[in-house]
Amino acid sequence: MIHQLPKLNYVYDALEPYIDAKTMELHHTKHHQTYVDKLNATLEKYPELVGRPLEELLINLQSLKVDDADRTAIRNHGGGHFNHSLFWMYLDPSNTKNELLAKEISKTFGSIDEFKKQFTDSAAKLFGSGWTWLARNNQNSKLEIKNLPNQDAPIISGLQPLLGLDVWEHAYYLKYQNRRPEYIENFWKVIKLI
Ligand code: MN
Repeated sequence: MIHQLPKLNYVYDALEPYIDAKTMELHHTKHHQTYVDKLNATLEKYPELVGRPLEELLINLQSLKVDDADRTAIRNHGGGHFNHSLFWMYLDPSNTKNELLAKEISKTFGSIDEFKKQFTDSAAKLFGSGWTWLARNNQNSKLEIKNLPNQDAPIISGLQPLLGLDVWEHAYYLKYQNRRPEYIENFWKVIKLI
């Protein structure tokens, strides 16, 4: 096994009542674990890719010498592993405010509240399964809010992720069922970074 499920720095009920313990446990030990397992299973066919960092595989996805089906598998499962590893860090209750980032967000979007409003609207409108990101565009270094489908990692399209919200139903359905807006609203109560 090359890629491994990262340990969380906090317990599964640390984000209660906003994100419930059962969802956290299933999300981490089942959903994320499956992305890791399927990524490893795909890479087993390509010894030359073993040991290459995940970021490198994703950034160079189009030029990897692999079958098309395996390229898709690396995109989906590698992206799933990449995105979820970041997500657990964003949610960490021991995070402290990133003053520099908060300042830049205010400058870019007008205020933190206005940023949250735009991010929330974007996440609410995302059709199907995917993620909403705050990311820095490599081309102009500017911050932007972007919805990406499925498990597409931002780095595949030249975006450096700074904050991301998983809006797949598996991230909220147990507690919120179809009430995605409520899940998004409560996401802000968990996030300490901005
Ligand atoms: Mn997820």
